[in-house]
Amino acid sequence: MVVVLKRGVTEEKQEQLIHWLQNQGLQIHISHGQNLTILGLVGDTSRVDMDLVESLEIVDSVKRVSEPFKCCNRKFHPEDTVVEIGDVRVGGGHFVQIAGPCSVESEEQIVGVAKAVKAAGADMLRGGAFKPRTSPYDFAGLKAAGLELLKLARQETGLPIVTELMNIMDLELFADVDVIQVGARNMQNFDLLRELGRLDKPILLKRGLANTLKELLMSAEYIMASGNERIILCERGIRTFSDYTRNTLDLSAVPMLHELSHLPVIVDPSHATGMARLVPPMALAAVAGGADGLIIEVHNDPIHALCDGAQSLRPEEYAALAEKIRAVRKVVTA
Ligand code: PEP
Ligand code: MN
Repeated sequence: MVVVLKRGVTEEKQEQLIHWLQNQGLQIHISHGQNLTILGLVGDTSRVDMDLVESLEIVDSVKRVSEPFKCCNRKFHPEDTVVEIGDVRVGGGHFVQIAGPCSVESEEQIVGVAKAVKAAGADMLRGGAFKPRTSPYDFAGLKAAGLELLKLARQETGLPIVTELMNIMDLELFADVDVIQVGARNMQNFDLLRELGRLDKPILLKRGLANTLKELLMSAEYIMASGNERIILCERGIRTFSDYTRNTLDLSAVPMLHELSHLPVIVDPSHATGMARLVPPMALAAVAGGADGLIIEVHNDPIHALCDGAQSLRPEEYAALAEKIRAVRKVVTA
């Protein structure tokens, strides 16, 4: 349920109403917009007398929110959320370019790629240290040593780092990571999501391989319900009957998620297509479709990459794409 307050309501009256609602066992999320203050009521609102609340002098209107996701619902929070990572902003008109290899492999590789993507205009560096692999025999990342190399690359370039956490037991190692990625395979690891909700750290939440938008938003809700509101959603392609691409990039997810939620939405054209040559057209399409950012795999030597080489751009290919991204962005925001 959403309670929209009238303009110019005193702090005292607002507090009285909030206490009264809290006493009925509800959690209240307050959204102070430029023009409106909105109270989002979470919990069992079935016993709240809507007519009574609506009749209060300070209340403009009351709406039931039928969707099961509340905190991330745009009805609760009409203005776009802007996630801040140091000087980098994502959402609400701020566009982010995240680039880097699928996996951290060596100091030379990660620092080299970090410098190259920074020169091309990237805002953040990606790189997996803990890798979810389909086969237990494949390279599963350098683990803690990989995180150290990412930090070194950050030190060399100033780029904030984005990397995946698979297991909450490793959380301590991620204390100095700028953005924690929840990978597609963990989108519904509810215990992990709840724990990440206790952090004051941005979370990049990827859509699961076969998950609906509602399920993605319910996963964001897990994190937000535990207190962390710094979430970036990521469309990375879903399983369909498409036979020539790794996944199907669901681009309509971008405007749909923007309609449903105030959280920023970025797109991963690398995992969506699985092929380097399809990354530029899909990246540009995502920008044209209103994405708040892109996460793109870039490798200095894709042929010898230990993971996802086929979908990785070379640094010079990324640089050429980054320029086009800026050009399309100009058209979209004109
Ligand atoms: C990745 O970002 O390297 C990755 C494994 O992504 P996803 O979880 O989307 O497959
Ligand atoms: Mn990858």
